[in-house]
Amino acid sequence: MAKPGNKIIQAKLVLLGDMGTGKTSLVLRFVKGQFFDNQEPTIGAAFFTQILSLAEATVKFDIWDTAGQERYHSLAPMYYRGAAAAVVVYDISSMDTFTRAKKWVQELQRQGNQNLVMALVGNKSDLEAKREVETEEGDQFAQENGMLFIETSAKTSQNINDLFYEIGKFWIHNI
Ligand code: GDP
Ligand code: MG
Repeated sequence: MAKPGNKIIQAKLVLLGDMGTGKTSLVLRFVKGQFFDNQEPTIGAAFFTQILSLAEATVKFDIWDTAGQERYHSLAPMYYRGAAAAVVVYDISSMDTFTRAKKWVQELQRQGNQNLVMALVGNKSDLEAKREVETEEGDQFAQENGMLFIETSAKTSQNINDLFYEIGKFWIHNI
């Protein structure tokens, strides 16, 4: 809940990345604390809100969770234009999804907002035994492109809150 007199920041966040990387699962873990092994694929896009209280301000996230399929690609600009943050998600157990994530970052750099905060997320960190993308690779790409970077697991909830805290903190200090 918002503390009386505390500043409130409301901002739009969009999730992008390949189908199956866990975008919907990340949001459901953050917003509802739930996880499903058989998460239904997202059709088009879905909208969620969540409030986080930080020391300096209360942040209200308006979250657009997009579908990763190529046939929905032309809809993506509708969601990332006007967004204050873009979270690009890949699956640490799939190099293909990391390659696709890099393409999303390039598109955002060309066509996203000037002040867009970008975060790169390596999800499914619980699948360590199947890892194809090393932490250093993700970290380095994020650094080169001025992005926040974090590895998460929607399944175990590792770093899920931290992801949104980091974005919230960034907004507080930069908006
Ligand atoms: P989206 O297409 O990017 O929205 O991905 P979904 O959220 O629909 O997830 C795709 C599949 O990956 C589902 O079967 C999820 O249960 C699974 N999944 C999502 N996040 C994780 C995770 O952190 N770890 C594991 N092991 N599976 C996950
Ligand atoms: Mg989805």
